[in-house]
Amino acid sequence: MYDVVISGAGPSGSQCGEVLAKAGYSVALIERDCGWRKPCGGGLNHRVLEMYPKLRKLSIPVIKCPILHSADYHELEYIAKEKAWGSVMDRLELDNFIRDSAVDAGVNLLDKHFSYDFIMKSQEKVGIKAKAPSGTKEYRGKIVIVADGMSSKLAIRSDLRAKWKLEEIANAKCAIMEGEHNLDEEFVYIYFRSYKGYAWIFPLGGKRFNIGVYTFAEDNRNHNINDLYQEFLRNPNVRKLVPNQGNVIWSGSYPFPTEGILEKGLCDDRIMLIGDTGGFVSPISGEGIQHALMSGKVAAETAIEALEIEDYSKSILKKYKNHPQIKNTVRSFKMKSSMREFFYKDHGERLNKIFEQAQRDSEFRIRLLDIFFSKSIPSKEFLSKFQ
Ligand SMILES: Cc1cc2nc3c(=O)[nH]c(=O)nc-3n(C[C@H](O)[C@H](O)[C@H](O)COP(=O)(O)OP(=O)(O)OC[C@H]3O[C@@H](n4cnc5c(N)ncnc54)[C@H](O)[C@@H]3O)c2cc1C
Repeated sequence: MYDVVISGAGPSGSQCGEVLAKAGYSVALIERDCGWRKPCGGGLNHRVLEMYPKLRKLSIPVIKCPILHSADYHELEYIAKEKAWGSVMDRLELDNFIRDSAVDAGVNLLDKHFSYDFIMKSQEKVGIKAKAPSGTKEYRGKIVIVADGMSSKLAIRSDLRAKWKLEEIANAKCAIMEGEHNLDEEFVYIYFRSYKGYAWIFPLGGKRFNIGVYTFAEDNRNHNINDLYQEFLRNPNVRKLVPNQGNVIWSGSYPFPTEGILEKGLCDDRIMLIGDTGGFVSPISGEGIQHALMSGKVAAETAIEALEIEDYSKSILKKYKNHPQIKNTVRSFKMKSSMREFFYKDHGERLNKIFEQAQRDSEFRIRLLDIFFSKSIPSKEFLSKFQ
């Protein structure tokens, strides 16, 4: 019997396991495939580096700022006050780094294990059943944490949430390419388009770069993601930056949740949902790594409190969803969702106009970019400028 059994060793599950193991608790961390490179831009804003300072020891690029482009190719630089915006990493390297750290802290990582159901006792979830190469395995725990991402089967079996509808997710496709390019390695490049979603190019250091596209809401039905991806690669503005698109090291497609945190469905007796499984992805920027780490840490701290008093009921575990960091993130995501509706009106036209205004007015520009990248909630006075 473990203290905690976690399904999914992405950033949320590994971080959660590491915090628990460091506090002296036994943790089983079940992972489908440690060799899987999750489709992702790998953009790490400075909050990720602050939350996980060990990453700074790696030789990863320093990204000064993102350059945003509206659908008509107006350019905006995001100058983060006093500090660099963050970095970019290959997701396979990032995930393995965070996993290794969890293992060093004492977590028992079970690779090539596919979680498919809960072990039930008197209607309570007391562990996870997984398929392993040697057959079906059962891992019992006092608390179960579901961190197996967007397509989690356990989240649905837990009855805490339903399967996402197509309108509630983003469809994304991206690749890592290698070739001569004209990217400035101190920037990441983001392109808003005439559909709901955006495209990106993130330099990975040397000749490598990550390039991708996503759509969300009704535009998942209105557009084919493969066509949009090809169209982006052919775009003359993109060709100028990355003329050499020949050598594709890896490519993949994957969804992410876009409707914010499932506040009501984050916990129950003996169970908590973290990271993408709980909807912890910014509805406006698509950033989820920072929120995965944060929710993993808060869930671990809540589990530690429950383990200390040996009470695993919802009345204790709900401290996770009521934690100020989670509450703030819920509030900030709600604001971002409504701003997003506003920005994406008229197939990119409104955003073109907003970018024109931002180019003329530096104060407006900084506040506008904060809506995309920071947790700050805009003032009424600022919002009135949009009317
Ligand atoms: C195309 C794309 C681009 C993105 N770009 C960025 C970006 O640049 N910056 C950013 O901050 N965020 C980005 N995101 C979001 C980010 O990837 C996620 O928010 C983040 O990975 C969530 O971490 P997680 O640990 O919750 O889930 P995941 O990273 O999805 O990890 C889940 C883990 O569970 C495992 N798993 C799944 N099912 C099972 C099972 N049944 N049994 C056992 N294990 C299982 C998986 O193998 C995986 O290791 C992007 C997402 C996509 C799809």
